[in-house]
Amino acid sequence: MEKREELYRGKAKTVYLTDDSDKLILHFRNDTSAFDGQKIEQLDRKGEVNNKFNHFIMTKLEDAGIATQVEALVSDTESLVKKLDMIPVECVVRNVAAGSLVRRLGVEEGLLLDPPVFEFFLKNDALHDPMVNDYHIVSFGWASEAQIAEMKALTFKVNAVLKALFDEAGMMLVDYKLEFGVDAAGNIVLGDEFTPDGCRLWDKETRKKMDKDRFRQGLGSVVETYIEVAERLGLAL
Ligand code: ADP
Ligand code: UDP
Repeated sequence: MEKREELYRGKAKTVYLTDDSDKLILHFRNDTSAFDGQKIEQLDRKGEVNNKFNHFIMTKLEDAGIATQVEALVSDTESLVKKLDMIPVECVVRNVAAGSLVRRLGVEEGLLLDPPVFEFFLKNDALHDPMVNDYHIVSFGWASEAQIAEMKALTFKVNAVLKALFDEAGMMLVDYKLEFGVDAAGNIVLGDEFTPDGCRLWDKETRKKMDKDRFRQGLGSVVETYIEVAERLGLAL
């Protein structure tokens, strides 16, 4: 496998073509952004930590029967993945109220959500990722009804697997964001990443924040805490 030209440079990752037209390389950079890219910093080792963390989690999800992009780790900061035609929405599941839900609905941070809440957001920084619903997605042609149903089912399947995984390691999976795409055979496949940059994790006992809220809220020890999360899961970094 050979790395070819850059396809896209996002806020945290750079995507490269390879000599296999069905595969891409995701390069996880140290760049860390929040508030639609208004706050950006370089955090030492974050690219490596997130690359290895993402590979670890996606492999767990594959093992649980969920189709993911995962192919192989190719360097400390790069992974080989299936090339997907990405659906431009973010699928968010919330087990506990936090973040934009608290701001939008005025509920207390930490409120348990049973059943969990599912939300779609349009991936569009210029519009600040507005919340959208199934009707917008079908009407604007971003995905079909069947693809929406599949994304919801897979996002909840991920919840069952990862809630248990984090719980056993002493953490609460508060909320998370997933992105899906369509592979060459037309299947819905989990893409992008699952790392502490795209979810909220709290220590079960102390409720210490162990995710990107440390960066958003200036709490410090961002990468050190991501490493602690990984170590609790049995991934030495
Ligand atoms: P952003 O675009 O939000 O700034 P990133 O810096 O994470 O995000 O950039 C990664 C880009 O690569 C995203 O636009 C994401 O949708 C896209 N992507 C992630 N996984 C895949 C994949 N398997 N196939 C094609 N594109 C992908
Ligand atoms: N999230 C993300 N990327 C985004 C928006 C949200 O990874 O562009 C994640 C975020 O880290 C959290 C969950 O999705 O785990 C829900 O985010 P929320 O809507 O509360 O937004 P935020 O607090 O980031 O404004």
